[in-house]
Amino acid sequence: MTEPGTGPTTAVSLHDVSVSYGERRAVDGITLQVRPGERVALVGPSGAGKSTLLRLCNGTVVPSSGRLRVLGEDPAQLPAGRLRALRRRIGTVHQQLHLIGPLRAVHNVNAGHLGRWGRWRALRSLIRPLQVDQAREALARVGIAAHLHSRTERLSGGEQQRVALARVLVQDPDLVLADEPVASLDPARAEEVMRLLCGLLEEPHRRRTLVVSLHDFDLAVRHCDRVVGLRHGRVVLDLPADEVDERARERLYDLGPDR
Ligand code: ADP
Repeated sequence: MTEPGTGPTTAVSLHDVSVSYGERRAVDGITLQVRPGERVALVGPSGAGKSTLLRLCNGTVVPSSGRLRVLGEDPAQLPAGRLRALRRRIGTVHQQLHLIGPLRAVHNVNAGHLGRWGRWRALRSLIRPLQVDQAREALARVGIAAHLHSRTERLSGGEQQRVALARVLVQDPDLVLADEPVASLDPARAEEVMRLLCGLLEEPHRRRTLVVSLHDFDLAVRHCDRVVGLRHGRVVLDLPADEVDERARERLYDLGPDR
């Protein structure tokens, strides 16, 4: 029997999910459904549980209690092979870009294939890059096709960020998770990276799902369909972006200090 909220109509489904670290509840009884193709921003003060929620979504943290489904699967119940297959469908954008500086951009972009390629194919590609056209196309989509063969560490910070986004494109995930992807950027760069990140979601026959944690409330409202506010591991706000107003923002940030 299919449980409510776990069928193909949800990309991510949490039902009364909690995550505890010792005495501390990082996520406290969250029930939340994310529809395929939705762009959901997680906002809230530091320590609210945003990263833990994202880690639940990529299966690196398992619920202490409650039910979780990601792309229709329960990561905690999957054998290793199926968990790897699930993770191939999930692209993660980190604040730290996790690029290998001395390598040329093409290799860092091709790292998006690593979940599919065997070890030998990966090694072969380091000697003579494989699927170069696809890497070039991905770099073109983020505006830096000319840097295909540039050493990554010689690129500017903004260009390196684009290489990391191109790597996600090559991975071709159904679900994109981004943990504070613009936290260290000035407002203009943050806006640009959010625009590029959202651009990655659009494919001819589908739209990838995005769950992104953001410090900047206005950025969340401008770029996402829906804003989910967390405090103390709980959802205290869940609104379509176009219904978010000043009162909603106050509700999220003016509930007194975090624990
Ligand atoms: P946010 O991303 O909103 O800043 P986090 O999910 O990182 O929040 O953290 C939520 C709470 O859980 C915080 O109180 C944090 O200290 C705690 N926490 C997160 N990860 C761990 C961990 N690995 N071990 C112990 N406590 C943790």
